Amino acid sequence: DKLRESKVFLRALFDYTPYEDKATPCQEAGLPFRKGNILQVVCQEDATWWQAKRVGDCNLRAGLIPSTQFQERRLRYRMKMGSLPAPVPPKAPLYDRGEREDCDSKAALNGKDVASLRRSFRLKRDRQSAPADAADPKHTEFLIYEEVTQFVTRPGERPRLIVLIGSLGARINELKQKVIAENPRRYGLAVPHTTRTRRSYEREGVEYHFISKAAFEADIQNGKFIEFGEYKDNLYGTSLESINRVLNHNKVCLLDVQPEALKTLRTAEFKPYVIFVRPRIHDGQGKGFGSSSSLSVGLTEEDLLEMSQSAERMEECYGHWVDYVLVKEDLSGAVAELHGTLER
Ligand code: 5GP
Repeated sequence: DKLRESKVFLRALFDYTPYEDKATPCQEAGLPFRKGNILQVVCQEDATWWQAKRVGDCNLRAGLIPSTQFQERRLRYRMKMGSLPAPVPPKAPLYDRGEREDCDSKAALNGKDVASLRRSFRLKRDRQSAPADAADPKHTEFLIYEEVTQFVTRPGERPRLIVLIGSLGARINELKQKVIAENPRRYGLAVPHTTRTRRSYEREGVEYHFISKAAFEADIQNGKFIEFGEYKDNLYGTSLESINRVLNHNKVCLLDVQPEALKTLRTAEFKPYVIFVRPRIHDGQGKGFGSSSSLSVGLTEEDLLEMSQSAERMEECYGHWVDYVLVKEDLSGAVAELHGTLER
């Protein structure tokens, strides 16, 4: 029977509550799901309502889910009627992992303006993957389902890429460094490229790949970087090749990037496992921040509000791509949890 089971798997890209769905033929028969859930489709004979089960659920009963065509049709209708806002692209910056003011400065680079280089980089990526015009219902791509296949680990297979994304205040780089430092044989870091001069204690290919500005610029144009930024007049970036180098050594590569990079990284080659690191935000007058282990000591109400809004925005724009949410309070706890998740 197992063999005859449906092989159609969908990842839900939206939350679905049958009890709130006026169109469903029978609310009790509906299958509720959250974005990110994997659904095994049992029957697609009906054009409007499919039958599916949630994978990994103890409840094996199949229920009704809206078909892609139906969901799309009603979202398009709602958008036309003005009751559904057009999907808004996120405001998060694409680049800079360095200081913001440094990254925003327009430094001249071989007669070219870095900002314009960045723009062309972004446009190139957008042209490949973004919907033509988000405000136009005819061209909007709605987040409904994404077809997926079951991943079976075979011996000798390269590990999956681990991508850490986070909202403001998540301090992911620190988390990443800790996990790697504790398990250097198992985990690795993609060595970034930079145009700054090498310091005496640094080795080529260890801390960085040191290259000229001209070479860096050419690499940007050739789409070699999944992200890059500017810091104190030098360029820094992470290349696809440097990620592959870690994976080819059979090490788990941990990468922290702006979430926009997921568009490039979500390939069959990398099979990224996406972890969303979000700071734990307590309500009330900063309660829960008193302990010295808390990462939020010294933050103002305003900082906290900004952090929580940033987390919400991130969840809204990228939540459907997230495999695991790590709620972070103290660093050592987060390191342990991340390590446990990666082992699992
Ligand atoms: P340093 O020159 O002291 O080694 O690094 C300075 C800064 O460059 C770091 O704090 C970090 O913000 C930035 N940086 C290092 N590697 C990368 C990278 O791969 N991409 C980006 N965008 N910035 C980086």
